[in-house]
Amino acid sequence: MDTTAKKNDFYTELAGKLDTLREQGLYKTERVLSSRQGAEVRCDDGRTLINLCANNYLGLSGDESMVRAADYATEQYGYGLSSVRFICGTQTVHKQLEQALSSFLGMEDCILYAAAFDANGGVFEPLFDENDAIISDALNHASIIDGIRLCKAARFRYEHNDMADLERQLQAAAGKRHKIIVTDGVFSMDGTIAQLDRICDLADKHGALVMIDECHASGFMGATGRGTHEHHGVMGRIDIITGTLGKALGGAMGGFTAARKEVIQTLRQKSRPYLFSNSLAPAIAGASLAVLERLSASTELRDRLHGNTAYFRKEIAGMGFIIKPGTHPVVPVMLFDAPLAQRFAARLYELGVLVTGFFYPVVPMGQARVRVQLSAAHTRAQLDAALDAFRQAGKELGLIPA
Ligand SMILES: *Cc1c(COP(=O)(O)O)cnc(C)c1O
Repeated sequence: MDTTAKKNDFYTELAGKLDTLREQGLYKTERVLSSRQGAEVRCDDGRTLINLCANNYLGLSGDESMVRAADYATEQYGYGLSSVRFICGTQTVHKQLEQALSSFLGMEDCILYAAAFDANGGVFEPLFDENDAIISDALNHASIIDGIRLCKAARFRYEHNDMADLERQLQAAAGKRHKIIVTDGVFSMDGTIAQLDRICDLADKHGALVMIDECHASGFMGATGRGTHEHHGVMGRIDIITGTLGKALGGAMGGFTAARKEVIQTLRQKSRPYLFSNSLAPAIAGASLAVLERLSASTELRDRLHGNTAYFRKEIAGMGFIIKPGTHPVVPVMLFDAPLAQRFAARLYELGVLVTGFFYPVVPMGQARVRVQLSAAHTRAQLDAALDAFRQAGKELGLIPA
């Protein structure tokens, strides 16, 4: 056997598949920034753009206060732990952050992970087995889907945001020992807010637990930014919350699961991404702690974000663009056609605005869009400049009246 040829086959095959992706226009490339993340960013082609596509909801990612808080924590606790949490990788700052997250979210206890992807990957398998049922929204995040795959529980999928179908699935799961409904608190492609009041009512009626993934909500949804459960008045009725430190809450990285102490203690014993992966860097733990203190003391950033969102939504709709209605800082501007969405995003780039076009398979066929994400860091002048660019590009491409 020619083993070299055999190995070459592998690489040739991969190259072929990559070519196919390129031909289909589905090949993803990275845009390289040479500045901090922020309301404006500098790209490596030297251009400065207004950034409307980061999950930097509270504007903290490049904020000087975060750099200082991270420096301070690094100074005190060092650069890293070179250990998982349960061997010698837990510092005071990790315990303080778990405590602060629990109380911010209104939950009993909390466990940190390197990412929300890990939190979701490690939450189901330790808690549920073949006697149980997981009832999951059809559009839940990839990390929830992967986490459910790692667990032996029976899977039930309900149509996205469809409460009648959720009830049908709960009935179908009736014979199971424990049942848990799982949903994103906010769905990032549409900015759709899960109907947690109705979900909690259905859960009560059918004796099910409720889990929400709050990656696009923690820090700014609800009157004091606690999340979708606060927004819907169901704090105290949610059993498990997963979330990220990599979006609104600072933007570096890190994730968490918050729940009753029996759940968190079980995860500390059995959750594989916790047991077998390194501790969160002290810089991130310390800076995240500073974020929670700041958000607990004042709703200023959250309020500014929602002010920017309301302004942008009103202005862009007033120009004649079709947007998905709602209140979330994710604002999908609908183009429906994939090449048109790409052309529109490219023209906006030329006009100094960074947005991303989304099309199939990331969103359903015929639902192509550019997704705008507002930030507390955007000034009114930046939003007005971005809106001018939307107006110009929209007229040029015949999307709105000339
Ligand atoms: C971003 C996101 C994640 C992953 O978060 P990381 O901390 O970056 O791993 C998980 N779930 C949802 C809903 C997200 O939007």
